[in-house]
Amino acid sequence: MSELERKQDGAPVPADWTYASAPESRDIVQIAERYGHFVGGEWLEPTETYETIAPRDEEPLAAVGHGTEADVGKAVAAARAAYADGWSSLPGSERAKYLFRIARLLQERAREFAVLESLNGGKPIKESRDVDVPLAAAHFFYYAGWADKLEYAFPNRRPRPVGVAGQIIPWNFPLLMLAWKVAPALACGNTVVLKPAETTPLSALLFADVLRQAELPPGVVNIVTGDGRTGAAIVESEDVDKIAFTGSTEVGKEIQRRLAGTGKRLTLELGGKAANIVFDDAALDQAVEGIVNGIYFNQGHVCCAGSRLFVQESIYEPLVAKLERRLSTLRVGDPLDKNTDVGAINSAAQLEKIRELVASGVEEGARIYQPPCVLPEKGYWFVPTVFTNVAQSYRIAQEEIFGPVLSVLTFRTPEEALEKANNTPYGLSAGVWTEKGSRILWMAQRLRAGVVWANTYNRFDPSSPFGGYKESGFGREGGLHGLGPYLEFDE
Ligand code: NDP
Repeated sequence: MSELERKQDGAPVPADWTYASAPESRDIVQIAERYGHFVGGEWLEPTETYETIAPRDEEPLAAVGHGTEADVGKAVAAARAAYADGWSSLPGSERAKYLFRIARLLQERAREFAVLESLNGGKPIKESRDVDVPLAAAHFFYYAGWADKLEYAFPNRRPRPVGVAGQIIPWNFPLLMLAWKVAPALACGNTVVLKPAETTPLSALLFADVLRQAELPPGVVNIVTGDGRTGAAIVESEDVDKIAFTGSTEVGKEIQRRLAGTGKRLTLELGGKAANIVFDDAALDQAVEGIVNGIYFNQGHVCCAGSRLFVQESIYEPLVAKLERRLSTLRVGDPLDKNTDVGAINSAAQLEKIRELVASGVEEGARIYQPPCVLPEKGYWFVPTVFTNVAQSYRIAQEEIFGPVLSVLTFRTPEEALEKANNTPYGLSAGVWTEKGSRILWMAQRLRAGVVWANTYNRFDPSSPFGGYKESGFGREGGLHGLGPYLEFDE
């Protein structure tokens, strides 16, 4: 707002409303040139490395270990030793102290984690600062509270830990998914071998430093970086008792096939194609904000993203007009800029996948709207996109795009909305927008989705279980339900 303009005789008004850039300094983060695997409380020198980059400008950030079968074997052995050497028999109240410490350290180092997460993953700093990092700390606080109360959570069932948990996480919420997996596992007395996603290993490697600060006994948490082959080695490892996986449905199915008959425990949190349903009595401006949050949050790299918008026919035109107007105000750009709403796409491969699916939407006959938008020259970017005139059969209405792309469809009656919303192989989440409480309950009972948000979207809380139906997986993370997969019971 540098210049003021006088309007006739009235008070001066600003002539220019564009935002000045407000970059967060990256100086707070020290990135090493090279990282090994964190095994048995020490850094294991990798035999192979690859380069991890910043998706905003393709800047190389560090050389990171590519975990081989032998590296995974050492990590599993360290986890087994730590399990047997006292972690599994430590009183819950003692385990809780470590979890509390980790939570406090995450809070103390929150800015460092937020900057690193945005740099390595491409997500806007305001999201990593206000959502990812605080929620990750909240998960550790929450499960610290359960560690000494497992007998009360499962009365008369004598809970005990499962053993060594292999945990494989994706690139969309690297630190938060780590917290969702590690916190309940440790609270229940298990030890862990974790593999972060190939493109986003750095926050997990910084987390290793938090574990050192918290003086967690060596081997309780081991972190092996690498690509899908490293993940597969964890799945195949004979001394792992449980696999927890978050990622694509395709890989989830492959893991389930491999584990069939082994007796290993498994939880899968997979893809989604969520319906966000707006009835004609909804508060439209509020709904538009919810729709935008539902699909453009984290560039749409969200398994529960509201990627199919169902609008009741009578409000279709005003709602789409409001939505398109709102889209034109989204600021796309540098993830480290505090004003940025939509950051960089996580990787070249993901950008290619988004482009391919968007091209299929245009080809199949949908109408595309993309606001005017200047994208940075380097890095991976995609303009927030809305498709209207979408038929249920189009690929953009069926397949998970995992990008900032919304498909708008219509309905006339609640029954029709329900039928269309459930017409998907997925079943992770859904949203309902209406002022009628009875309609919210009617819809929530019938939607085949693990989470149903009413008049809001993308709300997460450690005390609330999260997970899917159908091809979105099985098992729950969060809440009391999130303890079950990490426990055996003497019935
Ligand atoms: P993947 O399912 O391939 O990746 C998830 C995790 O599993 C990563 O750590 C990955 O390693 C690892 N992995 C890959 N192959 C295997 C294997 N055979 N055995 C064990 N672990 C394995 O997802 P992508 O990153 O390839 O993304 C592809 C698509 O999946 C996206 O476009 C999106 O649609 C969907 N997706 C859904 C997510 C969700 O939360 N529901 C999260 C991420 C992706 P690596 O990173 O090295 O590949």
